[in-house]
Amino acid sequence: EAGRRRQRLLDLNRDAARFYYQMLQQPEGRAVQEYLDRRKIRRATAVNFGLGASLDAWDALILAMTKKGYTKSELLEAGLAVQNRNGGLYDKFRNRLIFPVIDVRGDVVAFGGRVLDKSEPKYMNSQETPVYSKRRVLYGLNLAKKSKRSNIILCEGNIDVVTLHQAGFDNAVASMGTALTVEQTRLLSRFTKELVLCYDNDNAGKIATERALEILNNSEFSVKVLQLPRRRTEDGELVKQDADDFIKLQGKDAFEALLTGSENGIEFRMAQVAGKYDLSSDEARVAYCEEVSALLAALANPVEREIYTTRAAETAKITPEVMRLEVQRAFKRRL
Ligand code: ATP
Ligand code: MN
Ligand code: MN
Ligand code: MN
Repeated sequence: EAGRRRQRLLDLNRDAARFYYQMLQQPEGRAVQEYLDRRKIRRATAVNFGLGASLDAWDALILAMTKKGYTKSELLEAGLAVQNRNGGLYDKFRNRLIFPVIDVRGDVVAFGGRVLDKSEPKYMNSQETPVYSKRRVLYGLNLAKKSKRSNIILCEGNIDVVTLHQAGFDNAVASMGTALTVEQTRLLSRFTKELVLCYDNDNAGKIATERALEILNNSEFSVKVLQLPRRRTEDGELVKQDADDFIKLQGKDAFEALLTGSENGIEFRMAQVAGKYDLSSDEARVAYCEEVSALLAALANPVEREIYTTRAAETAKITPEVMRLEVQRAFKRRL
């Protein structure tokens, strides 16, 4: 019975995805098509991801799905309709670019929707449902799992994934703005042992990178961090970029170069720590050694630990012997 209900929801999601997809090809979907043009997403790319359009109307989807025999309670349970105070239903996704979220089995489990202008909220996502647990899904993994590239690129947003695939990086997936979960890493491990973190280069992205590195610390994955440079505007101001911004401005070859040059996780974290200190002062060198030794002490692989301990010693301009002692002290503090 529970299985039958799940299947009904999956059927409804698939029919809804078809409806949104068809609307994008119709005259009513023109606003969304124009938005895709502005974001330089080509027709073939939109088809590959099954992108769609929800119309500027209150019940376009509800009418179409009711006609197909789905009930109000099914529409509510799927998170496609919302109930107003009088008990009436209206479409949850209106006047948005629709991203169907497809799991690795190929089932449409949820939707994301982006507004076409600057209004809020910028994105709306399906709530958790009997067929959607957001901690177990990664956007784009249904396609990335077929990639011939050896690694998987983890980024933040739906558009990042779409743009990366369009540029030939068909190994990109997104956690859709939420922190990477253990469940997602388990899912990823079925398809690759190499991950590249490519979050936005703003503060939130940096925090997300550190969280992900913690989760992946001492895991079976080899992890790299692709750091997007900040962009300088004509006025000389430094502004944030994400993978989509970078590719649109710098092109895919520049991205491929960043991918090739990306640092591993410990290098990234050591650079973060070093960046906090002015190492020309003695106090700062002491503080740097103390902080970096905690990172080094957490490395399970002794060869790795030795290599990066030596490197940290070079950065702090002290002997490797002393740095090793500092790492041992940090190790004891952990116990
Ligand atoms: P765009 O390039 O379309 O402006 P983005 O992907 O760069 O959007 P971010 O603000 O970097 O947007 O957010 C990353 C991801 O987080 C989004 O792609 C989306 O999946 C999710 N997200 C962003 N804002 C919201 C929101 N208000 N509610 C729910 N999810 C959101
Ligand atoms: Mn962001
Ligand atoms: Mn963006
Ligand atoms: Mn972004």
